[in-house]
Amino acid sequence: MRIIFLGPPGAGKGTQAKRLTDKYGIPQLSTGDMLRAAVTAGTDIGKRAKEVMDAGGLVSDDIVNQIVSERIQEADCSKGFILDGYPRTVPQARALAENMKASNLVLDAVIELKVDEEALIRRIENRVAETIAAGGTVRSDDNPESFRKRLTEYREKTAPLSEYYAGEGQLVVLDGMAEMDTVSEEISRVLEKA
Ligand code: AMP
Repeated sequence: MRIIFLGPPGAGKGTQAKRLTDKYGIPQLSTGDMLRAAVTAGTDIGKRAKEVMDAGGLVSDDIVNQIVSERIQEADCSKGFILDGYPRTVPQARALAENMKASNLVLDAVIELKVDEEALIRRIENRVAETIAAGGTVRSDDNPESFRKRLTEYREKTAPLSEYYAGEGQLVVLDGMAEMDTVSEEISRVLEKA
């Protein structure tokens, strides 16, 4: 099973992707997590990405395409994977399609979680409050200014992917405002048909 989740920051992609990893035994590939790990490890990629990420911008297509093309060749991806936060631009979607074609891999579903922006801002505030309450570290881009920039980037660069995948006949749009369990049930229904 090879799945892409689309949706703005805070739409619940990560939460839903995590649930699917348990159900299907396939990994969640979050480019955000991979980039944050690179920043923490102080690698070259991490050093190049940090400033852009903190400001809520998008890291260059070349960097993320490279990371994902290597990651999907790893052994734990042999039965499939769930892409969370990638692709984020049409050129990334094209690079992914080429990559998958070269390895004879087929995409099973592209699921977009639709949410309204006011609710997103509340979700991010809750995520920050919960992280602090749990004694965790708040992401350096989970602040109002960077979040606004991330939403703008989404609208300008990632939202066009809906049209791209709709054109490929692969897009399913679900209501990301519904209860988390309801969204999970809807996703299961979509994947059963895929
Ligand atoms: P996320 O955890 O998906 O919200 O991603 C956090 C940040 O990592 C984003 O705001 C971007 O700066 C960067 N990032 C993650 N995935 C991508 C991607 N596919 N393309 C470009 N930048 C990305």
